[in-house]
Amino acid sequence: MRFYRATLFLFPNSIRMRMFAVCFIGTHLPLLAFAGWQFTSGAIDWIELSVVLGATLAGTVFTLAAIDGLLAPVRAATDAVAALERDQSSALRGVRSGDMLGELIAGVDRAAAATRMRIATLDNAAHRDPLTGLWNRRGFLAQTATTGRGAVALVDLDRFKMINDLHGHDAGDAVLRDFAAFLNRGVRRSDCVARWGGEEFAVIFPNAGEVEAATILHRLTRRLSTGAVDGPDGTPVSFSAGVVELDGDSIEVAMSRADAALYAAKHGGRDQIRVGEAHERMG
Ligand code: GH3
Ligand code: MG
Ligand code: MG
Repeated sequence: MRFYRATLFLFPNSIRMRMFAVCFIGTHLPLLAFAGWQFTSGAIDWIELSVVLGATLAGTVFTLAAIDGLLAPVRAATDAVAALERDQSSALRGVRSGDMLGELIAGVDRAAAATRMRIATLDNAAHRDPLTGLWNRRGFLAQTATTGRGAVALVDLDRFKMINDLHGHDAGDAVLRDFAAFLNRGVRRSDCVARWGGEEFAVIFPNAGEVEAATILHRLTRRLSTGAVDGPDGTPVSFSAGVVELDGDSIEVAMSRADAALYAAKHGGRDQIRVGEAHERMG
């Protein structure tokens, strides 16, 4: 590293030009020694000097061309790393050799793959709810950021606190997991289900009207009443929901309208679905 640092002044921004300069000096040393010796001895043989000069020039051209060729993997690796920054993850795989440079490139490739995996893990942790495996609120909003048309629902388990109070938090957690799986299974593949928080869940039904979305949820309330998800004491759990169309609003605004419809469902006696701005009862 000392020599590397000592030569930095030559071409601070180009290792290639520094290697060229070092090779140039190295290949010219015999010529300089020979010319110096001839001039100091006073016996200048112009023919011999021309031969050594010609050989030196030819050697220099060959050496510079060879160095340039040997640096090709480094150039390719530099381009590949730049491509990695633009997220073209396969770029490094095209640059392979068995020597020191090859090992360096393979190391960069492994480090890049490990970083990608770590980012994917962190991304997943940031967007998933660990208890149910569903999207969390942040994941839901990220998933639905581009949804233009459709309906959203806010789904809330009825009297869930009682399950916790009577049977403990773990039993409550088990109900949340079972219900999350039930809800996720019960909607269409294109719909997106998330845990909005606590015992509340959010669903987006892309390209669906509010009545269509409410019909799907209403079918689920009927399945629950026949024991699709039972509480710890064997009694069926139920939910209330508010469903509204997006109507060009952001998801956040639509969710607060759905919350108002949910509030009406709770006040209407629970285990029911309320639809739209008028909070009409479904079914
Ligand atoms: P309502 O029918 O009006 O919705 O009544 P509720 O009891 O379902 O609603 P409330 O808001 O009174 O209580 C919600 C409870 O959910 C309180 C809280 O302790 C519980 N809860 C929130 N998150 C979790 C969780 O992750 N696990 C468990 N076991 N309980 C949770
Ligand atoms: Mg509740
Ligand atoms: Mg609630």
